[in-house]
Amino acid sequence: MTTTHCPYCALQCAMRLEPGPDGRLAARPAPFPTNRGGLCRKGWTSAEVLTVPDRLTRPLIRKDRGSNLVETDWDTALDHVAERLLALAAESGPDTVSVFGSGGLTNEKSYTLGKFARLALGTSQIDYNGRFCMSSAAAGGMRAFGLDRGMPFPLSDVGGAEAVLLAGANPAETMPPMMGHLSAPALLVVDPRRSATAQVALDNGGLHLAPRPGTDLALALGLLHAVRVGGWVDEEFVASRTTGFEAAWEHAAAWWPEHTEQVTGVPAAHIRAAADLLGAAARNRSAYVLTGRGTEQHAKGTDTVSAWINLSLALGLPGRAGSGYGCITGQGNGQGGREHGQKADQLPGYRRIDDPAARAHVAGVWGVEPDTLPGPGRSAFELLDALGTAGGPRAMLLFGSNPAVSAPDSGRVRSRLAALDLLVTADFVLSETAAMSDVVLPVAQWAEESGTMTNLEGRVLRRNRAAEPPPGVRTDLQVLSDLAVRLGQPPERFATDPDTVLAELGRASAGGAADYSGVTPARLDSGEALYWPVRADAAPTPRLFLDSFAHPDGRARFLAVSHRPPAEATDADYPLVATTGRLMGHYQSGAQTRRVPELGRAEPEAYVEVHPDTAARAGLAAGDWARVTSRRGRTRARVRLSPTARLDTVFLPFHFAGDQAANNLTNPALDPTSRMPEFKVSAVRLEPEL
Ligand code: SF4
Repeated sequence: MTTTHCPYCALQCAMRLEPGPDGRLAARPAPFPTNRGGLCRKGWTSAEVLTVPDRLTRPLIRKDRGSNLVETDWDTALDHVAERLLALAAESGPDTVSVFGSGGLTNEKSYTLGKFARLALGTSQIDYNGRFCMSSAAAGGMRAFGLDRGMPFPLSDVGGAEAVLLAGANPAETMPPMMGHLSAPALLVVDPRRSATAQVALDNGGLHLAPRPGTDLALALGLLHAVRVGGWVDEEFVASRTTGFEAAWEHAAAWWPEHTEQVTGVPAAHIRAAADLLGAAARNRSAYVLTGRGTEQHAKGTDTVSAWINLSLALGLPGRAGSGYGCITGQGNGQGGREHGQKADQLPGYRRIDDPAARAHVAGVWGVEPDTLPGPGRSAFELLDALGTAGGPRAMLLFGSNPAVSAPDSGRVRSRLAALDLLVTADFVLSETAAMSDVVLPVAQWAEESGTMTNLEGRVLRRNRAAEPPPGVRTDLQVLSDLAVRLGQPPERFATDPDTVLAELGRASAGGAADYSGVTPARLDSGEALYWPVRADAAPTPRLFLDSFAHPDGRARFLAVSHRPPAEATDADYPLVATTGRLMGHYQSGAQTRRVPELGRAEPEAYVEVHPDTAARAGLAAGDWARVTSRRGRTRARVRLSPTARLDTVFLPFHFAGDQAANNLTNPALDPTSRMPEFKVSAVRLEPEL
């Protein structure tokens, strides 16, 4: 029996893996503060992913474009990849090779991937799928607080609050054990849909505020207006711990509740009621504002996060015990994955790659000269969209990601991937992206290797190895080391043992914002709650900002942000708004969960949730196949009627592939700061699928 953590989301529920009645490993819940002994159905069935029948155990190679992938041995596959990478780099320069990582990789893999890109390949062209998940929240947190730890307090703090405002998150479906922490008497849910979480709020006397998709920022401005008019601004906090309130207020002054209602559709009375509930709880130091992807995945996501933080600062929530602002990280290592160098603009320890002091520190740990490190590269969608274009990368190495399904405007991304001279994917199954690749490297997964993850609270924890990988399978760390040596790196520079990598990561992150220098195997094994920063000579930091924020003057920043409409408008041809999200039974692109029989049976196909009147206008009834078309592509989905849906909005889960992929529709318009695509608003039309 091994105690470890779930392979999926950032709650990182603890579990035991032990032999079940059939002798195969089975997952059972284990006590841990985030899940308190609970698991969702994904967690309960997670061990089945270890034995899926189409598991890859030998490398695959495609001799020529148009031919099939065929099995080969590791030396042939790795020699071929290294040869092609060297040849392409010799022809077109180091930036012709690109790397794409994942918010699901362990900290050790994220760190090694960034190091591999900068040293073994010498490329600036690395980014990761976490850009699609966390970047607006991260950018908003950095601007306001000077530091991005999504939840700067333990999740268990939220449980005792009088009021919690939850904007754009649906944990009742996506992270069910988290609902145990959302028992506030006043739960206020902001979501265009009557989600399962919104229903919980209503059932318990809370509020559901349902803005038109793309108007969350206006709603946050309206709430700030109502908070000030209601007399709930914490003047002493604003004066002593923040700057910029009056400039921010200028942008909120016009958003009286009736005006906000016109733009968002949220009744003015609900806006005032929400402001009063939050204000009264804040006065008792007992209120939280939490945001998720629904409010963040927009072309104005960073400004929207700033608007929610402005509301929190006006109420005096951040940096105080019993209250706060936080974002709910989604991917399993969404927090750690954005800290240690797989982002285009970043070096380990949350250092900026364009900061000379940061470059000197990390280069010293790596044993190279700082000026050999490349500068910042392209962000995730920009990188994917440049593949195979003039001046863009001609090769991509991909770890832990399936952008053929998960990227916005995925049809366009698939055509860019197909334009590459060389696509190499490390995966445990033939995902949709792996199936397009020239070389597929079969790697160990989750419970077959150890490594650290950083959960949604910024707590570093260890996933313990519970099973041997199948014969023939290597770990991602082994693959990176094997390739690095073939590319001319000294073998000792790329360790394959996770603890050795963790120790180096600790040195590289030491002194940075996300300092892991005190994270050791012994402390991890002891069960100590290692909230970063974790220095060797200091206790961990469960609650940040209690004395001061991370800007040089110690103050948090209000940001002067304005509402602007979504990047694309509806019109006669595309009269509805499509928004996307997750289901309880699936995770991200579905590459893992669609292979678990119980989960596949529960949600076997894509659906479109639509109001009965909207469906009837399109000539559709419950159970019909609908065609949903945007300006970028179309998808097929089974009609599910929902009388609580907005008449102008349809919802599609994004876990399905091919002609059922919701991301065939989505808009890659990017946030100017975070480069987050606008997943949550696409203009579409709905028709019967004939
Ligand atoms: Fe917990 Fe998330 Fe795993 Fe479900 S998917 S068991 S909520 S970590």
